[in-house]
Amino acid sequence: MEQAVSAAETDTSKSARLQQALALAALVVLYFVAGRLGLYFASVHASASAVWPPTGIALAALLLFGRRAWPAVFIGAFLVNLTTSGSIASSFGIAVGNTLEATIGASLVARYAGGVRAFERPRDFLRFVILAGLVGTAVSATIGVASLVIVGEAAWAAFGPIWLTWWFGDAAGALIVTPVLVLWSAHGSFTALRARLFEAVLLLIVVVATGALVFAHAELSRHPLPFLCIPPLIWAAFRFGPREVATSVLLLSAIATWATVRGLGPFTTGGDDQSLLLLQAFMVTIVVLTMSVAGLVWERKAVEHERSALLERERAARAEAEWASHAKDEFLAMLSHELRNPLAAIGSAAQVLSASGAAQGVAGRAVDIVNRPTRHLSRLIDDLLDVARLSSGKILLAKEKLNLGDIVDGCLALMRSSGRLDQHRVDVDIASAWVLGDLARLTQVVDNLLTNAVKYTPPGGRIDVRTSNEDDEVVLRVRDDGSGIAPELLPHVFELFTQGPRTLDRAQGGLGLGLALAQRLVVAHGGRIVASSPGPSRGSTFTVYLPRVDATELTGSSVEACASGVAPRRILIIEDNDDAREALRLQLQAAGHEVHEADSGIEGVEMAVRMKPDFVLLDIGLPGLDGYQVAERINAAGGGSRLIAITGYGQPADRERARDAGIERYLVKPVDAVELAHLLT
Ligand code: ADP
Repeated sequence: MEQAVSAAETDTSKSARLQQALALAALVVLYFVAGRLGLYFASVHASASAVWPPTGIALAALLLFGRRAWPAVFIGAFLVNLTTSGSIASSFGIAVGNTLEATIGASLVARYAGGVRAFERPRDFLRFVILAGLVGTAVSATIGVASLVIVGEAAWAAFGPIWLTWWFGDAAGALIVTPVLVLWSAHGSFTALRARLFEAVLLLIVVVATGALVFAHAELSRHPLPFLCIPPLIWAAFRFGPREVATSVLLLSAIATWATVRGLGPFTTGGDDQSLLLLQAFMVTIVVLTMSVAGLVWERKAVEHERSALLERERAARAEAEWASHAKDEFLAMLSHELRNPLAAIGSAAQVLSASGAAQGVAGRAVDIVNRPTRHLSRLIDDLLDVARLSSGKILLAKEKLNLGDIVDGCLALMRSSGRLDQHRVDVDIASAWVLGDLARLTQVVDNLLTNAVKYTPPGGRIDVRTSNEDDEVVLRVRDDGSGIAPELLPHVFELFTQGPRTLDRAQGGLGLGLALAQRLVVAHGGRIVASSPGPSRGSTFTVYLPRVDATELTGSSVEACASGVAPRRILIIEDNDDAREALRLQLQAAGHEVHEADSGIEGVEMAVRMKPDFVLLDIGLPGLDGYQVAERINAAGGGSRLIAITGYGQPADRERARDAGIERYLVKPVDAVELAHLLT
């Protein structure tokens, strides 16, 4: 087995070596042919030409294949010169010079100009021009001409002109030929070209036609029109890339060289050598200019491409986040639904026990113990749900004209009755302050500020509550002399999950949701909320500003509603959960109402149509007919009753659905006794 593996390895390495040898042989042939072609244009000396594509070939080979390509360059150069001059000594010297030129140029470019990527950015390309085009080529020219002089094939006096021709020819070869070879080999993708095949063919035709007219046309080429080469090259730079620009320059250069040695074109001023040098100077200028433009455009496109990829990724991430947030909302809704039903039953039952006076002594305390965590849990569930809604911007406000003073009074009364204000001195200064708002939401804001004031003020502390009217705003100020807020926390108190330092027992509890919700709710009402504190232990003040509405604009009905007392109502409860239904019935009966029950949708519809109660309290998650269908049927049968949904679902979409079904109000379990009583009046 091992033998088989090593035999296979030997085969692979043999074939790799063979391939390499073939590639090097091909390079020798290419170099040789290009060299013979170059020397065809030699005039100042048989071995020095202003047109020297082999430099470009050698440089490209070393950039693409690395150092291992140098022997091919050496052999190619040696053969070209040997077949030209017949002298082994000068051919050897020239071949050394040509090989050094390519290796030095390639290693400088690899090190300082991005190697094979030298043509993608203008900065790298300009470094390539200097390092490979001007510095590397000087090595070859110097060693080459020196070799000729030393072996006596050229006179010392001719050193200067031969050197210049040599250097220019090599530089033009490097700048015009190398980019074409490297770009087609290293970036040989045809996708863009194929996508614009028609335009590419058109470009090719225009380039060739321009070259022919400017350099080879018998009439036109006598005029100084070479600048006309620039527009097609700029077109290539903007619509294609450096590769197409380099190719177009090479084509133009080939046409121009061919025409110039034939005595045609604007550069045929003096002898052949001088004309070719002039032409090369022009071509080198053009290639530096247009390749830089192509590099700039290319770089810009790469940046745009990168940005659009980034945007794509950002879009995907956002979609994923939205999906996750939606899943979280759904989960919270389901969770709260599952928690709310049992909580509703516990809460209502405890309220019935307290109201009936049945629970005395130990039992009474036990009822209190049940009541408190029930309230606490309900609140947490509500807050979590609100966070979900507010985070997704889905909060619906059922706005009506309200007296903020009444809301504050109501909250204080409730807190007082439950003993929560017993340990503080509370100063109240309430003025009528009318706003357009959602009763439940504003109650939530006020309750949160008062609860915090109590929570963060030690027993014996003072709490100051006042409502007032200032210009076109209604102002609620809750001030305490409690623990205060540290300056570093103050700017963040309205952020979600922000909490001040806690004692180890976390006696203050909470999740850091209250103020965040309060702020978002106030903002949703078109108002603002401000926190201030002189520092730790020096108390805090929270001030809410809401847009004020004119009290005289109040409709009769809302004034009546405020003035009327509690009247007994005929109420039908449609609820399939026995505990919840019974607890609600007891609670309503304790308040003096006439209560009827149905435990299914069908029965509920039948009773509602027959009895025409004042109110129908309707569970939504009923088996068979759901609450929405029940509501639709009751309304279709003539209605007459006001429908109130009491449900564990609290999503905005559910509320909309309820409204469409003709349900007037939508209460989320566990129902707040005060809110329900308010609705029934
Ligand atoms: P929670 O009370 O659940 O921590 P809140 O959002 O209601 O969340 O309040 C955030 C933080 O702001 C509290 O943890 C507390 O540090 C600070 N804070 C709120 N109200 C007061 C107050 N009246 N006095 C001092 N600190 C307060």
